[in-house]
Amino acid sequence: MHQGSSEQAAQFLRLAVPLMVKHSISPTPYNYARWYSYVSKRSLPLNKALDQTLETYGTCPESFTRELFRDHVIPEEVGLAEHSRLAVNAVVDELKQQTGDAHSDALHYGDILSTARKELPHCDLDEMQQLMIRLYEGTQKVSDSNRQFLAQIESAQKKITALKEDLKKARSEVDRDPLTGLYNRRVFEQYLATPGGQQRRCLVMVDIDHFKRFNDNYGHNIGDLVLRQVGALLQQQVGERELAVRFGGEEFVLLLCGPAASFAVRAEKIRIKIQELVLLSKRDHKPLQRITASFGVAIEQGGEERQEWLEQADTLLYQAKNSGRNRIACCTDQSTSAAVISIQPSA
Ligand code: GH3
Ligand code: MG
Ligand code: MG
Repeated sequence: MHQGSSEQAAQFLRLAVPLMVKHSISPTPYNYARWYSYVSKRSLPLNKALDQTLETYGTCPESFTRELFRDHVIPEEVGLAEHSRLAVNAVVDELKQQTGDAHSDALHYGDILSTARKELPHCDLDEMQQLMIRLYEGTQKVSDSNRQFLAQIESAQKKITALKEDLKKARSEVDRDPLTGLYNRRVFEQYLATPGGQQRRCLVMVDIDHFKRFNDNYGHNIGDLVLRQVGALLQQQVGERELAVRFGGEEFVLLLCGPAASFAVRAEKIRIKIQELVLLSKRDHKPLQRITASFGVAIEQGGEERQEWLEQADTLLYQAKNSGRNRIACCTDQSTSAAVISIQPSA
């Protein structure tokens, strides 16, 4: 996974493991990867974020592990994709070499045949026997070389298939939030930069209300479960040309397309669906506290910068929070700014 000598890798691991034991970190691949990065000091922001988390919690909760992994370790894995590309090039070079060898063997065999054709009419029996031996050996050599070449092609095909899988996996890890499986901010930025085409676009910023209470009341694992449930619900609400993204923490963003009048209605429907989610306690099968979210619905006006559009969605979300949460706020007048908002009261 990481480059560098195996001796150095072993040294990093020797440093990482006692730290993991000291802070009661479970030995998962995520944790190894993150603590390995920590002791190798390859990402100073990761070390800073981890130091802060340890100072606050005395350990590093699982949910933070994933966040830190996503933000600081996975970008490094982009290097893996590059590595795979280089490996494909190496396989192709190997094949080129093999093709060259097979080609020169075939040329040599051609020479043997044409010499034989010239010599044959003038040969006595002994010479003919020698000629036959040379032809036989030449045929053997060219057939061995062909067999070898076929085996090389087969092995190269296998290597390329495996590398393609590696690339696909690395790419999808880089694009997705590991907790919810939704697209991450990186993909969102790319998508936002692509023009929307004929249809109107809308940014819907969604933030779970008082989410911290889920963590405080039921623990981080239940907090994670809430994020996964909300994430899955949001994913179900978007069409093919739309996007559901985990923006960070308990904040999501939807990029919707369609008629301007449809967006607030869709956002309101999603708000109700979130409110209707029920999580039961494992212990007594009683429902946990209700999940609600606030929404900022910003329809693209056409002239604004992307950053401005995003800020507008954020401002609207803030308005929805300040007006009591569990509601949506959206622009009613497309020609004016975010100051004109309509707040849908909670049901
Ligand atoms: P508000 O209604 O104003 O949005 O309040 P809030 O509690 O939802 O917002 P606040 O920003 O105060 O707290 C968000 C919390 O989300 C803080 C952080 O510990 C938690 N959090 C962020 N990411 C994760 C995660 O991946 N898993 C879990 N379990 N908690 C997370
Ligand atoms: Mg919140
Ligand atoms: Mg928030």
